Amino acid sequence: AQERYASLRDLPAQTTCGTTISLQMNAGLMADLPSIESSGADGVGLFRTELQFLVRNQMPKRDELARIYATVIAAAHGRRVVFRTLDIGSDKVLPYMKPNDEPNPAMGWRAIRVGLDKPGVLRMQMQALIRASGARPLTVMFPFVAEAEEFAQARGHVFREIHRERSIGHPVPEVLEIGAMLETPSLAFAPDAFFRMVDFISIGGNDLKQFFFAADRENERVRRRYDTLNVSFLGLIEQIINRCAVAGTPLSFCGEDAGRPVEAVALAALGIRTLSMRPASIGPVKSLLRRINLAEARAVIDEARASGAETVRPALMDWLAVQIE
Ligand code: PEP
Ligand code: MG
Repeated sequence: AQERYASLRDLPAQTTCGTTISLQMNAGLMADLPSIESSGADGVGLFRTELQFLVRNQMPKRDELARIYATVIAAAHGRRVVFRTLDIGSDKVLPYMKPNDEPNPAMGWRAIRVGLDKPGVLRMQMQALIRASGARPLTVMFPFVAEAEEFAQARGHVFREIHRERSIGHPVPEVLEIGAMLETPSLAFAPDAFFRMVDFISIGGNDLKQFFFAADRENERVRRRYDTLNVSFLGLIEQIINRCAVAGTPLSFCGEDAGRPVEAVALAALGIRTLSMRPASIGPVKSLLRRINLAEARAVIDEARASGAETVRPALMDWLAVQIE
């Protein structure tokens, strides 16, 4: 199987109906970088910057971070890299920060909430990203945005740092994209203006699913209780797809489900055109996508939904079994 996937590396994830899905990879450590070439990824759809903070025993300095980000950009050889700003708190606790004793850390002071309340680290990180990019394009994404105003504020910090870097004579990115992760259900219902303000949206399916079903992603007892292919969850995904389509907002999906072949087919059939996953999943997902017709997959999903099924998985699996015969 590994060899078969290797032979697919330079082929597009094009379905039999001619739609190409962009398959990107998730990364965060230097050890992930060789996979940008070897996996055949179209880019890095999610670079989890907190991992560089978690593997150290003290807060990294700006110049050190700038060197790390420059290495990542170089390894991508012109492919787009989506740098997600720090997502600490919740399950990701920095050893050198005073721990917050929170009753529900996953819903606590984490990610962009920390970045907005104590913007020093966010600003330092932005400076490092701008210096690493120089005049090349830069893509930044904020984690765990729950309302439009948080995004607007975070974006203001980026503009301020760009302005500051320019004023001291540093080159700044000629193309800048600023996006939001959609990983709290609230953001799916944000005002239209939010969808027009963001340059792109990436669905963080791990957190979105956890908060949609109120089922802790860290809790073995409930983690797998609700199916991603549950019709309610698919309805939410569909709503996000429609709102992005109306506003013309590029949309991707970067949770673990993007790398599961059956889930990937369902997401593509609903209309998602960019999936970001761990590098090892790119081969299996591409292999399946290349054998199916999305309109047919969509019809199978819609029929299962109309039949009153709780999840479309059995119907989709039966249909897929015939496709790969
Ligand atoms: C997610 O929540 O789906 C996501 C991609 O972010 P993380 O897994 O790092 O929380
Ligand atoms: Mg998340």
